[in-house]
Parts: sequence; structure tokens; C-alpha cells
Amino acid sequence: MAKNGLNTVCIHTGEVTDEQFKGAVSPLYMSTSYAYENVAIKRYPRYFNTPNQEAICTKLAALEGTDEALIFGSGMAAVSNALLAFLKAGDHVILQQSLYGGTYNLVVEVFENYGISYSFTEGLTRKDFETVIQDSTKVIYVETPSNPLLAITDLEMIVALAKEHNLISMIDNTFASPVNQNPHHLGIDIVIHSATKYLGGHSDILAGAICASTVHIQQIFKLAINLGGNLSDYTVWLLERSIKTLGIRVKAQNENAMQLAQYLENHKLVDKVYYPGLKSHPDHEIAKKQMSGFGGMLSFELNESIDSMAFIGNLSLIKPSMSLAGVESTILSPVKTSHALVPQEERNKQGIKDNLLRFSVGIEDLEDIIADLDLAFEKTNNK
Ligand SMILES: *Cc1c(COP(=O)(O)O)cnc(C)c1O
Repeated sequence: MAKNGLNTVCIHTGEVTDEQFKGAVSPLYMSTSYAYENVAIKRYPRYFNTPNQEAICTKLAALEGTDEALIFGSGMAAVSNALLAFLKAGDHVILQQSLYGGTYNLVVEVFENYGISYSFTEGLTRKDFETVIQDSTKVIYVETPSNPLLAITDLEMIVALAKEHNLISMIDNTFASPVNQNPHHLGIDIVIHSATKYLGGHSDILAGAICASTVHIQQIFKLAINLGGNLSDYTVWLLERSIKTLGIRVKAQNENAMQLAQYLENHKLVDKVYYPGLKSHPDHEIAKKQMSGFGGMLSFELNESIDSMAFIGNLSLIKPSMSLAGVESTILSPVKTSHALVPQEERNKQGIKDNLLRFSVGIEDLEDIIADLDLAFEKTNNK
């Protein structure tokens, strides 16, 4: 049988067939109690093996091209289970600079208590990673594109480094989504998602996922079953519904974001645009090599003649909002939200300016998004 295309996988792969009533969608099984005699599998939600959990994991593994997947109660449950499954007291982990804030906090607030040491890189070059490798290093952890500046880490380089030093490689693939980037195909061991973002896509589900080989999933499972971070079956079922449109949603977001990046780059009141699809992006060539689409996230610096808070206040279609990746366009100021607790000096070092805005591009009609931006520029500039 021919290999199914992206949208067919999104809609059908893993689905539970409704033998009893022949309904078109997977039935929802809310049972927390299943038979134990004469059954091949003893099922229990915290064992990650209910019918709906198995359905979504089959779909996620197909989307990332891995043997298996596990679905969790949040993105951070996935991140923490993945890292802690491969790290024990005495081990060392290297992580790239500018990670998702929750991941950074997990490492700096928790790891020391368990005797795990860590190093963050200064930049994203091979040398930056190589200089922090120690004899006890076990894991190399990256996130690309990064938040909020959409910097790109070269995954081929990470895979080579991991092989040379016998490290488990992990990526937070949330910003790209499986539609735009499949790191396992490039040799990355463990692929992590906050399914709260593109996989859910409607800003109403909190979930996380890990996709990896059977051997690695088994090691993560041994920890996860004890930590108890599974996702409720109702939400698993909602997520299966959401992923049916993942392919068309993300492709629409890719297209809108590319157009908007160009619009903003040509705008006289914008100083700089960060979008990996733009030729002006310093990592554009690497992005082209490892991504099939450039995603729906972009950031831009307003000209200093414009007050960024007033600008956000003058938008009406595009809402100021904390999270990202929904079908609706949202915008935020990193220095007022995600990076508010990062000291000014550190923000300067990372290049996160006060007038930087992070834009999560939705799937509204492009003309309407541009009209909203046009009006906000006009109103803010005239004050
Ligand atoms: C949101 C996010 C997370 C954490 O996910 P939660 O579902 O909020 O726990 C991790 N990584 C990235 C890149 C994110 O955007």
C-alpha cells in the first residue's frame, strides 16, 4: 500500500474503528477500569494504553516518523519526563541558550536537587556546543526555531556531535510542528511537543507529546508510569479531532506568516523582522535545509518612534495573548510577559529588545490581518 500523505495521516492514522455503531470518528473511551482476565493488554489511563491514547500515539508517531509516541498532560510533562528518563545523579546535560521559559526553569530550579549538572550554550554554533561537553554529558537538548527570535539550530550538526560523543539528542519541536520539521528523519533521537500549541491549534487544549524509537520510548515509559503525567482520555480524543486539520492549518499559517514577514520587513515603522523564511534571516540557509515550511511564528522590532504598548492597544483583530499557535492571530511583548523575569542585561545579550513583538500568525484572511496592522500603525504614529 502506498504511504499516505500528510492530511490523510492527520485524519485517519490510528483511528479507532467503531465496530458497534459504525460511527465515522473514533469512539471516546472514558473507562478507568478494564478487564484483566484473558486480555492481551492490561489497560489503565496512567499506563498510557487506553484505546484513545493508543490512537493518538499511533498518529503522532506517523507524523514524526518514529516507532512510537507517548501523550502527556502538558508540554512540560513531556519535557521533564524526556530529560529525567535519561539523566541520573552525576550526569550532565547540555542545553542551547534561549529555551522555552518553563524548560529553563525546570533545569535551574530542579536538576540540582537530583544531582544533575547542566550547561547552557553561549550561542548556537558547533563550537558553542562542543566547548560545554564534559565526560559525564549524557544528553544534548535543543529547540529550533527558538522563542522569541526564531533562531535556527543546525540539526545535522547536533546529530553529528551527539554521535561523536555518544549523547542522546532531544529537540523541542513545538514551534515548527511535525508539518514543517521532522527531526527524527535527520537523526535526532527524541522529539518533544507542547501539543498545547500547533497540534491542538485552537487554544483550548493543554497537552504534550514525545516521539521516539521503541527503545527510547520504553525507557521514558518506565519513568512516566511512575510520575503519572498522562493526559485525560477526553482531552486525548479532542486532540485527535484537532490534529485532523493540522496539515491545512499549519500550511495556511506558513503562507500568512511569509506574506506578513515581507509586509513588515517593507514597513517604514518596523526596524527588523525575525522570520526564518526571509532571505535576510541570518539562518535562512540552515532553515531551508531542515524545514519544509517556515512556520507561523515571527517577531519584529518596532521603530523607536512607536510605542509598542500603544501599538498593541490599537490592534483589534490581533489579540494580545500569552500563548501561541492557535487559529487566531495573537501578539505579545516578550519583555512584558515571557521574558519579564529575565534581567535586562541578559535580555540585551540575547538580543531581546524592549520594542520587540512576537506575533503568532493565525489563519484569518491575510487582507484582514494586514488591514488591522495598517490601522494600528496609522493610529499609533499619529499620536
Ligand atoms: C508552551 C511550550 C512548552 C510548554 O508546554 P505546556 O503545554 O505549556 O506545558 C514547551 N516548549 C515550547 C516551545 C512551548 O512553546
